[in-house]
Amino acid sequence: MSKKTPQAIRGTQDILGADAEAFAFVVETFERVRRLYRFRRVEMPVFEKTEVFARSLGETTDVVSKEMYSFDDRGGESLTLRPEFTAGIARAFLTNGWQQYAPLKVATHGPLFRYERPQKGRYRQFHQIDAEVIGAGEPQADVELLAMADQLLKELGIADVTLHLNTLGDGASREAWRAALIAYFRAVAGELSEESQERLEKNPLRILDSKDARDKPFLADAPKIDAFLSDEASAFFAAVTSGLDAAGVKWVRAESLVRGLDYYRHTAFEFIPDEGSASAAALGSQSTVLGGGRYDGLMESLGGAPTPAVGWAAGIERLAMLVGAREEERSDICIVIEDDNSLLSGIKLLTDLRKADFSAELMASGSPRKRFDKAVKKNPRSLVVLGRGEDGIGASIRSLEIAEELPRLGPFFAEYRW
Ligand code: ATP
Ligand code: MG
Repeated sequence: MSKKTPQAIRGTQDILGADAEAFAFVVETFERVRRLYRFRRVEMPVFEKTEVFARSLGETTDVVSKEMYSFDDRGGESLTLRPEFTAGIARAFLTNGWQQYAPLKVATHGPLFRYERPQKGRYRQFHQIDAEVIGAGEPQADVELLAMADQLLKELGIADVTLHLNTLGDGASREAWRAALIAYFRAVAGELSEESQERLEKNPLRILDSKDARDKPFLADAPKIDAFLSDEASAFFAAVTSGLDAAGVKWVRAESLVRGLDYYRHTAFEFIPDEGSASAAALGSQSTVLGGGRYDGLMESLGGAPTPAVGWAAGIERLAMLVGAREEERSDICIVIEDDNSLLSGIKLLTDLRKADFSAELMASGSPRKRFDKAVKKNPRSLVVLGRGEDGIGASIRSLEIAEELPRLGPFFAEYRW
């Protein structure tokens, strides 16, 4: 047996302290906001049959072709650690007959796994908050989801991130645009990056996303979706944008914004830090914090009836980076056991305080002097020292910043001489 301590897996993080508090703040705020918008909580498995993702996302996507953690289990079945939430939620909708609840608004959060090159803001195990509306074909569903995302960011104190919005049209618009993009890029294929050449026939929309300098000169003049939108698709997009205006959500049109996954239709969006802003500096090149869109075609690819749906996901780590480190909360009361004979009284007092909703901790190990120093270092709002004099246990309160709580605290100390 080697005595060497095993290292954590590359691209995973162990988070403690102020960064963990930022992470928790993101999740708690999301939980609060999703209740305001009446999204129901859903808990999902961390793994699914591989086909759930392969069929939903499409074999040509980066996620399916290079990023999935797939393995055969002991029964020989190919399983995959979820790289995203949407496909699993769609599978659950179909297998559980959740059609009866449609339109179903659900929210969840948890870990996802993608085999990517780890860097700041990009990990192999990361976490998302996720919101989906399933069985709603109206543009109001898109508006509500985007308003929720916008309010969430504001409540997190993130003000320098803007909604970038596009439409991919309906199935027919998207196909016509796709064909035009193939024709356009084929003419210059020799000058494109290898990656874009590879995408040309399979997933040409993705070329618009390219950050490669060899592709950039051709992006500005590429065909635009607007030329291919059907009347219905244009009307849908207009209803989304007017709804956003009514809800007070600021947005900018991003004509070349596409989502990497095959299942998107109509609305596609990302929230991106404004150029030169503090959030842009904090995130570096991994700049998208929240992304999503409408995926009306997904249920059919899983063998279900056509079911319109729209959703988004945001990276908790990236949001936490924008929130910044958050101090761990001070405790209300720290009890120092000055004399070990007062330990049991201290344990009782500690329990009573916690039951009464005061956050409290107890210092009872090491020398009395050390206990006191440790307690002071923790900077509680009040310090209670329990000692034992000739006439019984005595408590003294050393610093009381929560004077208004004294009437509530009084009864706890009634039995102590102080
Ligand atoms: P990117 O372009 O950054 O790779 P994506 O389009 O793959 O993002 P989505 O699948 O839309 O991302 O996921 C939504 C959000 O999840 C992203 O905006 C980002 O905040 C977060 N995210 C995605 N992949 C990672 C990762 N590997 N590490 C940390 N966060 C991630
Ligand atoms: Mg990605």
